[in-house]
Amino acid sequence: MKKIEINEVFKEDWNRVLNHIANLFYEDSKIVVSAEDAELSFRFQHSIDEDYTIHTACNLTVDGQKYTSNYSIHYETEGTEKEQGIRMKRALSHVMLDVLEQFTGMIQQWGILTGVRPTKLYHNYRKQGKSDEEIYAILKKDFRISDSKIALMSEIVKRQLITIPDLDELGKEISVYIGVPFCPTKCAYCTFPAYAIQSNRKAGRVESFIDGLHIEIRAMGKWLKDNNMNITSVYWGGGTPTSIEADEMDALYKTMFEAFPNPEKIREITVEAGRPDTITPEKIEVLKKWGIDRISVNPQSYTDETLKAIGRHHTVQETIEKFWLSRESGMNNINMDLIIGLPNEGIEEFQHSLDESAKMQPESLTVHTLSFKRASEMTHNKDKYKVADRDTVTKMMDMASSWTKENGYVPYYLYRQKNILGNLENVGYCKPSEESIYNIVIMEEVQTILGIGCGASTKFVNPTSGKITQFHNPKDPAAYIMTFEEAIEKKVEMLNELYNTQVKQ
Ligand code: SF4
Repeated sequence: MKKIEINEVFKEDWNRVLNHIANLFYEDSKIVVSAEDAELSFRFQHSIDEDYTIHTACNLTVDGQKYTSNYSIHYETEGTEKEQGIRMKRALSHVMLDVLEQFTGMIQQWGILTGVRPTKLYHNYRKQGKSDEEIYAILKKDFRISDSKIALMSEIVKRQLITIPDLDELGKEISVYIGVPFCPTKCAYCTFPAYAIQSNRKAGRVESFIDGLHIEIRAMGKWLKDNNMNITSVYWGGGTPTSIEADEMDALYKTMFEAFPNPEKIREITVEAGRPDTITPEKIEVLKKWGIDRISVNPQSYTDETLKAIGRHHTVQETIEKFWLSRESGMNNINMDLIIGLPNEGIEEFQHSLDESAKMQPESLTVHTLSFKRASEMTHNKDKYKVADRDTVTKMMDMASSWTKENGYVPYYLYRQKNILGNLENVGYCKPSEESIYNIVIMEEVQTILGIGCGASTKFVNPTSGKITQFHNPKDPAAYIMTFEEAIEKKVEMLNELYNTQVKQ
């Protein structure tokens, strides 16, 4: 761990932000005030003028060499206490990042932006009436984001507005997420609610979960119908929702179409079929019967050793076969996920994954960068997994970007995660007009996503203020079976509170 000293006791949340900045350069760092064994000592200064101009400065001296940065930003209004805190955190991050870039020679493409949703920030400025040029200037000067990342954000925002021209008015509808928490086995990097289906079936939990899910879909559908609320998109995730049997899927889709209001107005229904080992001709027939034509078949990698190392228990051959089975059975909107930086993978393996993808040309390709999520097996046993260095990971991201361009794909959504390799991002690419509406609405937080089933989070987005509140269904099927009725009640209460107040306004 790298101990980093600062000259002042900052508020806890200021410290946290500065720690994020330090972690962009050092994998594991800790900010402390006055420590004799500190490896780097930063001296900060900060002040606010009466006209709301913030000034920050930062100095670092190492082996007699001095690195300094000064920054000022003017705001038109005093802002709320919360806004003032955000402004100061940004201004301090700005000078610290600048000094660390000078000292290490390492340039951070995302600048001081450590959040998950860069394009939401872009949309916010757009909705304030700012032009692309004005937004570019802000992102460049105040956030220190590189030209190429700003161009990516701008391209994605434009694509999203082509896909969903009424994006800014989508708050009057809702999207639905339905979580089925079972998978054939658990992958090593996984933090999703995913439980091995065989043992749960033996314990009777799969059937009980499905019974509860029917009830929850009906109850939520009733609220939507009673409140004349249309659904924009539905996403079946998990787990792997194709882990259950074909007849179980069929019955659940029947319930969904009966329960949900105006199903003909739903713009998109996606079913994750992430694990190729769960796909069968019978299940594809069920998907087709209900008109569900967007699925995800996720290779992650086209190297068998990698799949084994991350515990996926299916082969590359199986991915390819299941892709073609789906395609030949009439599935005409297939997404495939790849992960950059999987254990023991470098340029060669990733190039191989791209070459294989080229043969299939799925409608969309989502390129993730591996992130070490706190709860995953991979993070707990980090030493066991050898992953590529920052330069290699960056190169692989560039390869994905060029490959998608050459193969006629466009980027349409993007998000970032904490502890993501190389401080990079995850990007969803697709053939033009094959964008996933759900992926856009969830990333840009433009409407409520109603979560149904195991591990499903409901994100209530206030259509007027954009304020977000959340409710989490239990992750574990055993807990879900015991408590789903309470979850229904609570969500109905929260929906009433949010939308009935809105209607009155
Ligand atoms: S297939 Fe997906 S949800 Fe299932 S264990 Fe693997 S990563 Fe987790």
